[in-house]
Amino acid sequence: MNQIRKFMYGRYGFDQFTRALVVMSLILSLISTFLRFNLLSMLSYLPFVYALFRILSKNIAKRTQENMKYCKMANQCKKMFNDIKLSLVGTKTHKYFKCVHCKQSIRVPRGKGKISITCPKCKTEFIRRT
Ligand SMILES: [Zn+2]
Repeated sequence: MNQIRKFMYGRYGFDQFTRALVVMSLILSLISTFLRFNLLSMLSYLPFVYALFRILSKNIAKRTQENMKYCKMANQCKKMFNDIKLSLVGTKTHKYFKCVHCKQSIRVPRGKGKISITCPKCKTEFIRRT
């Protein structure tokens, strides 16, 4: 145990980006097993090798920067998926529509039947079922 600690001293270790790489590698290898696709199974090792490299890396500043970039991108993706989800299904109490003119997102209460919606930004009116 002590030797592992000594070996890991000054090395970067595990972070969110590394976790994502490991997950990606697992998913790729699962898909390749499923499809019996050999090239993909070889490719599935790449993110894993890169994850190992990052864990053992001594260039901590560079790895931290990579992780920050990854987190920023992951957050943007999450936000995008959330926006898509909201515009498709809305919430229990509200539905979301995009203005036909300026694409502004507009939230309206659910279950009011067919209503005319006025965009708060450009004042365009359009009719939607809520
Ligand atoms: Zn508008």
